[in-house]
Amino acid sequence: MQAILMAAIPMAKVHVRDAEGRELSPTTREKAERLVADGQAEWVSQEPPTIRLHRSIPMPEPAAPEPHPLDGKRVLLHVCCAPCATFTAQYLREQGADVTGFWYNPNIHPYSEHERRRETLRQYAEEIDLPVTWEPGYDMPDFLRAVCAQEQQGERCRVCYHMRLERAARVAAERGFDALTTTLLISPYQNLDAIEAIGRELAEAYGIEFYFENLRRGFREHHHMAREHDLYQQHYCGCIYSEWEALDREATTRRGRRNGRRNGPGDGDAPASGYTG
Ligand code: SF4
Repeated sequence: MQAILMAAIPMAKVHVRDAEGRELSPTTREKAERLVADGQAEWVSQEPPTIRLHRSIPMPEPAAPEPHPLDGKRVLLHVCCAPCATFTAQYLREQGADVTGFWYNPNIHPYSEHERRRETLRQYAEEIDLPVTWEPGYDMPDFLRAVCAQEQQGERCRVCYHMRLERAARVAAERGFDALTTTLLISPYQNLDAIEAIGRELAEAYGIEFYFENLRRGFREHHHMAREHDLYQQHYCGCIYSEWEALDREATTRRGRRNGRRNGPGDGDAPASGYTG
């Protein structure tokens, strides 16, 4: 029995700490005993077996985090509306980007809504000291011509993304920006795959970089930020079709609720599906 125990002890791993108490790689009991016998270490515990070296072991410095791909770059941020710019501009700035906003949204209907959203961005940009490049005018007729016969949601949205990002890419190239991106990337209501494909295609054509990142994780926070700054938050995406769709959904929901009240609990309890992006 004694012989069996003696054979097992050398196999046991011994914990090793340096003089500052930092845990090092474990060693064998045999090596631990040699270090103690040489006066280089002392036992601090037998269970679990642990020795402490009399010297400090230099540790490698933790690797510096990789800089963000936009760090130090001039970025043109296409802004669809002030609420979507809140989280997005803040996030890009935190990554070290030098951000300039860009306004071009001829899709927004009616003109009074376009002006309201533009004015909201102007006020917010002033508050956060965000420079903004404003495309003059209101190219609504061009937008309607572009989506004509492609009015289905999805199809018309691709045309809409292309129109807005094409103008943004052109301006970014003309003014020497390093990269282009868009606040549309924060919205769960937008087709991010389509935006990425269109953005990359345009960026290649104009010789700039399109920065894509799914920023939907900031969607909840963008509502908080918009409320904090008392920003106008719209209830439909922007175009005449999206306004119609949003109002139609709300009317359907209201009808369902009315019928539900008539028919008793359980019917027509679907939440209102208004657009909030
Ligand atoms: S729903 Fe929004 S993204 Fe789609 S076409 Fe209308 S404004 Fe553009």
